This record gives sequence, structure tokens and C-alpha cells, in this order.
Amino acid sequence: MFYQPKTLEEALALKAEFGLGARFLAGGTDVVVQMKKGRLALERVIDLSRLRDLAEARLEDDVCYVGALCTHRALEAWPIPVLAAAARQVGGPQIRNRGTVGGNVGTASPAGDVSVALLALDATVDLAGVGGTRAMPLRDFFVGVGKTAIAPDELITGFRFRRPAKSGFYKNGKRHSVAISVVSAGACVWEDGSVALALGSVAATPLRLTGTEAFLRERGLGAEAIAEAGRLATEEVRPITDHRASADYRRAVSGVAVSRLLSQLQGGKHDALV
Ligand SMILES: Cc1cc2nc3c(=O)[nH]c(=O)nc-3n(C[C@H](O)[C@H](O)[C@H](O)COP(=O)(O)OP(=O)(O)OC[C@H]3O[C@@H](n4cnc5c(N)ncnc54)[C@H](O)[C@@H]3O)c2cc1C
Repeated sequence: MFYQPKTLEEALALKAEFGLGARFLAGGTDVVVQMKKGRLALERVIDLSRLRDLAEARLEDDVCYVGALCTHRALEAWPIPVLAAAARQVGGPQIRNRGTVGGNVGTASPAGDVSVALLALDATVDLAGVGGTRAMPLRDFFVGVGKTAIAPDELITGFRFRRPAKSGFYKNGKRHSVAISVVSAGACVWEDGSVALALGSVAATPLRLTGTEAFLRERGLGAEAIAEAGRLATEEVRPITDHRASADYRRAVSGVAVSRLLSQLQGGKHDALV
């Protein structure tokens, strides 16, 4: 069965009724691919495309908001480099026109580029269910490959984050475009000096480097501290070897990505590295 609710309340009522027996469909660039490959058989699909309010995004000086149905395309020109650069590097133009931020996070791939950017932004995820709404830090949301802390009756409505003073994104893939990340990294620095680092494809989930961040809080962003942060990052990641790259390669690239991103931000540049 294919459902097309017109309101959030309708969508939530359907999910509450069917629970794990129904799946939300946003852009479909993950769900439909899985179905076509025969890896996913769905009895009930709840299409979210008519819930246009969830496509809203607000760029504010303090707290910014990105709705779950916001497409990657819509974020490509945002003046928040970590998010815009991640969005620009998802798949090709067709995928970015359809693929949504909520779908990227909902898929919970360790390689989700926009998930890594939101994690680096220390974002909060807004969830809604028939019983009400709740917000949780995105760093608590990813619990395993393809697994999240969402309840069976909940929907992601959007994401909130403080606007950083500087940010950047790095993606290492097998090609320059339409390539799943071998390693990705996002870094943000806020006015109060706090730093957040997130890496993709180096663990079962997109990963916050909390140990490296704690070191930087104490030591600041001098050249020596940045070099040491790169080394600490190689110790903090937990990569595996797969058909895209070896664990050793991913570990080495993680260190390079972190120290390069931080050097660029420290040097005043705050745009993406590719
Ligand atoms: C050719 C190709 C290239 C790609 N390249 C990249 C890439 O470079 N980088 C990258 O990160 N990804 C890439 N992807 C993966 C995909 O495009 C992205 O993850 C995209 O953001 C998924 O969004 P969607 O709206 O299409 O999700 P959908 O396929 O609609 O949904 C994905 C999952 O999220 C759930 N979901 C969707 N919206 C919500 C919601 N609001 N609340 C709760 N659950 C929800 C769905 O139920 C489903 O489980 C690629 C895919 C393809 C086919």
C-alpha cells in the first residue's frame, strides 16, 4: 500500500498504526534503490512529499533550522561551508535534487555526507510522534550501521544548530563526483572558541571525535596542537577494511583530513577542501 498523507498528523497516525510495518519515503534515493535491488520489500510506504512545511530551512544569526525534507540542492549555496560543501558533494545533480537531509540521516549510513556535516555542527534532531515531540543530540541518534534511536512511531521533522564562525568539509572518494566517501570530515569553530569534529566512513556510525575535541579545548588551535590533533584523530577512529579502502588507509586519511581542515580554519579560510 502507498500512502500520501497531506498533513504531519496524518503521517504520524499512519506510522503509529503500522509501526515497523511501514516505512517513510522522502526523496527515495536510498529506499527505492534498496527495493529495486531486492534488498527491501515493503508492504506499506508512507510518502512524505506532500508535507511541504518540512522542506523549510531558516538561516539565522544564532540558531539555524533545516527541515527534514530540505533537499541537498537547497543547501548547496548556504553560507555555512561545512553544510553547503557536504550537500554539493552528495551523488550527482539528480540525486541532490531528490535526496533529502532527513533521508540522509534516516538511512544512518556511516558514509552519509550531510549526516557528518550536521554532526560537526553539533545539531539537534527534532522528532515527532502521535504522543508529542522530542529533541535529541544527533550524536546520540546514530547507534549502528543503518540503526538509529528513532521510535517506530516517530518521524524526523528537522535539525537545529548554532551557526558556527568558521567551518569546512573534506571528502575523499574514489572519484571527484558520484562517489561514496572513503573518508569524510567536518569541522566547526564557534565564536566562543569551541571546536567540533566529525568523521564519516571510519566507524559503524558517523563519528564525533570527542577525545580530539577535548585536547583542542585545552590546547587551542596553534600549529603544534593541530598536528597533534591529526595524530589523535588516527587513534580515535575505528575504521574497517572494505571494497573501497583498507582500515590503515582510512586511519591515515582521517589524520590528514583533521589537521588540514583545522589549519585552513585557523588560517582564516573557511571553505571546503576536496
Ligand atoms: C547514485 C547515488 C549516489 C549517492 N551518493 C551519495 C553521496 O555521495 N553521499 C551521501 O551521503 N549519500 C549518497 N547517496 C545516498 C542518498 O542519496 C542520500 O542518503 C539521500 O540523502 C537520501 O535521502 P532520501 O530523501 O532520498 O531518502 P529516502 O530514500 O526517501 O529514505 C531513506 C531512509 O530514511 C528514512 N526517512 C526519510 N525521511 C525520514 C523522516 N523525515 N523521518 C524518519 N525517517 C525518514 C526512510 O524511511 C528510509 O529508511 C547516493 C545514492 C545514490 C542512488
